Order: sequence, then structure tokens, then C-alpha cells
Amino acid sequence: MSTPEKTSRVSGFHKKSPRERLDFVAGFSGLDEDEVGHLANMGNLDPHLADHLIENVIATMNVPVGVATNMRVDGEDILVPMATEESSVVAAVCNAARQCYDSGGFVTSMSGTLMIAQVQLVGVSDPVHARIRILERREEIKAVCDACDPVLVKLGGGFRDVEVRIIESAGGPMVVTHLIVDTRDAMGANAVNSMAEKLAPQIEVWCGGRVYLRILSNLADRRLARARAVWTCDAIGGAAVRDGIISAFQFAAADPYRAATHNKGVMNGISAVVLATGNDTRAVEAGAHAYAARRGAYGSLTDWEVTAEGDLAGTIELPMAVGLIGGATKLHPTARACLRILGVASADRLSRIIAAVGLAQNFSALKALATTGIQKGHMSLHAQNIAMMAGAVGDEVAALASVLVGLGTVRVDVAEIELRKLRG
Ligand code: NAD
Repeated sequence: MSTPEKTSRVSGFHKKSPRERLDFVAGFSGLDEDEVGHLANMGNLDPHLADHLIENVIATMNVPVGVATNMRVDGEDILVPMATEESSVVAAVCNAARQCYDSGGFVTSMSGTLMIAQVQLVGVSDPVHARIRILERREEIKAVCDACDPVLVKLGGGFRDVEVRIIESAGGPMVVTHLIVDTRDAMGANAVNSMAEKLAPQIEVWCGGRVYLRILSNLADRRLARARAVWTCDAIGGAAVRDGIISAFQFAAADPYRAATHNKGVMNGISAVVLATGNDTRAVEAGAHAYAARRGAYGSLTDWEVTAEGDLAGTIELPMAVGLIGGATKLHPTARACLRILGVASADRLSRIIAAVGLAQNFSALKALATTGIQKGHMSLHAQNIAMMAGAVGDEVAALASVLVGLGTVRVDVAEIELRKLRG
């Protein structure tokens, strides 16, 4: 008798409990008892909450939360929780912050908390005329948008402006309406999407044609977070280090291959705080990378210059659509606790701190790259990971890691041999 084929067609999977789903998955994928037991342990996230945050939940994924010290932002000392699986990220922020602490730390600002929703209209014979017809309805548009979210309006947010762009596309001209909405302490995706959906039928009535998409833009360039700091030459080890950092920045500004890695480093810090606070990492990342390409070529999110005094001046500016309310921010207990650690009372303050972390991260990466190279700093933490992969436990981890660093060869095969030696 042939065994029935495995099938991924499962009816009512979403209606099962996490444990029932896990049992199905275990049977499907041949998980052993240890693996099932591990996945069934949801740690400090209530299974009921996990099951309501996303669909088809079977487990949770724990990521370490570290705290960056030495951060001084707008004259206030703060501790910054960072959720990341990558070694050296938290240490990089601590080091950068320590080296600019005495020169005042980070100074930050924000362009506002405005989000943009887009309504795409196609098949209009007179797009230029249609654009003006939409702009004439500003007060009507404001009323429709604000009626969608009285809570937001009561809190001082709501509709701020309307813009209409005509985009030439492969399918002909598109009339794209931008609703500009102040979403205050919310990231605002749901808020502005509801407004765009509500307004869409009206736009068809005013212009003819057909509306397709009604959704926010993650290029949140009306919500720019900015941070700057000065590192004195003395604090960073001299003019050669300063010039190396500036040259590294100039490389990124001139070359998208380098800029991608430069900005990946910036996002190491930024995404870690975004995740720790329960915000949407993909939204912030999409906004950052689109902003980095705003001049037509992909470039650096940061800028590095020499001050009149000969010190190193660093600047960052990027869209920062994060909130204190909405999504998982208020629901996830770890996110709530991380927001308490930060002590922030507004999305504006959170955004500015996150920008400062991105700048700090970039400083450390560029300094390491321009001097000793990135591997030296990474090596000891990386060696500990390799030691654990080779099977080291408890005190063996640090001991084996230092042997590997001493050998200058941090590889699993070498670690396995050295672990056997350590164990005699
Ligand atoms: P939300 O709708 O859950 O909460 C926002 C609402 O909370 C506001 O509209 C307002 O009515 C209310 N509110 C209460 N107090 C407020 C305050 N102080 N400031 C502002 N609003 C307050 O969440 P959201 O922020 O609209 O949406 C965020 C979620 O949308 C995230 O989970 C994100 O992942 C998701 N999302 C993102 C995208 C995208 O980025 N492309 C698309 C769709 C959904």
C-alpha cells in the first residue's frame, strides 16, 4: 500500500488552535518531540495574543533585546532598547555614543508627523483638467477624510492638504491624488488607507475614469527624522580617523554598491529600535531606501563633514513612520516595556531617537572600516556564536571563543577540533 502524499491543502487551518496547528506541522515536516516542545514554548508572549497578531500561528521567534548606553539625545540621557539577532550592533551604538557624549551627544529634529495616502485614477481623457477639478474640492476632501477618524482629529491630527500629480506610465497618464494627513502618535497606515478608500468613489464621480489603488506611500518624506552630532578629533583618535570616515561616506555617496552596505549598517541600528518598540520594520526600511534614491541615484542616508574647528560632523535625515499607538506597539508587552525604558511620550520623540541611533551606528561602522576593519570588532562575538554552533556550552563558550580569536581562525570545523581538545 502506498503512503498518502503530503498535502499543503489544509482546510480550516486558521480555525485551529496554535497547538493543533503545530501538531499538524510536526506530522507534515517530521519534527521530533524536542522540536515540537521547543516551538510550543511561546516564552513571554501570551499564545492568545500571538494568535491574534498574525494568522496561522504555531510558535514565536525570540530575538535578544540589548540596551544601548551612553546615549544623550537633546540634552537628555536615555537608554535605548534594541532587538536584533546580529552581534556588534548594540556595541557599535554604545561606542559611538560614548565618543560624542562629551561634545553634547545628539541633537535631533523632525519635519512633522505627516503621512501620504495615494489614490490612483486611470482612464481619464483630460488628466490636466481632472487634476484641477480634484484640487477645487479641498474642503470636501478634508471633510471626508476627517470624518473617517474623529479620534485622530480630536487629538489634533487629521487632513492637512491635498496634492494631485499626473504620472506618465506605460498604461497612459495616471492622475494620482495625495492625501496628506497628520497621524500624530500613530504610524497611520490604517488611518490614511481608510481615508483613501472613502474618498475614491468621489474622485471617480468628479473625474470619470477608474480608481484602482488606495494606499499610503511608505516614502514618508513629510515625516523626516533628523539627527546630528559632532565627534571631536581627539575623541575619535585623530584627523586620520576623521578623514577615513569622510572618505568612506564619499565612497557611499558616489557608489550604489557601497551605499547599499553603508545604509544596511544604518538600518542595523534603526530596525533594531523599530522592532523593539513593536513598530513596522518593513515600512521604515522601505521609506529609508526610497529616500536614499530620491535624487535618482541610490546614495547615503548620512552625511559626514569637517567642522570649522576641524572636528567630525555627522548628519542623518530619513523618513520615520513609527508610532506609540496602533499595530503591535500597544499590544506587545515587550514593545510596551521597551517604550517605558525609552521614556518617550510622543512618536516625534521616538522617531528622533531612532534617527540618532542610525547615525551612531553609521559612525561606528565607518570608523571600524576606515581603521582596523570590521572583522576585529565582530570577531569576539562572532567567535562565541561559532563556539556555540560547534557545541560549546556554559563556560566553554567564552573559553573556546578566545582560543579561536587567538588562532585567528573563526570556523566551525576548527572550533569542533578545539572543543574536543578543551574537553580533554
Ligand atoms: P491603528 O489604526 O491601529 O491606530 C491608529 C488609530 O488610533 C488612529 O487612526 C486614531 O484613531 C487612534 N489613536 C488613538 N490615540 C492616538 C494618538 N495619540 N495619535 C494618533 N492616533 C491615535 O494603526 P495605524 O498607525 O493606523 O497603522 C499601523 C499598522 O498598519 C501597522 O501595524 C502597520 O504594519 C500596518 N500597515 C502598514 C502598511 C504599510 O506600511 N504599507 C499598510 C497597511 C497596514
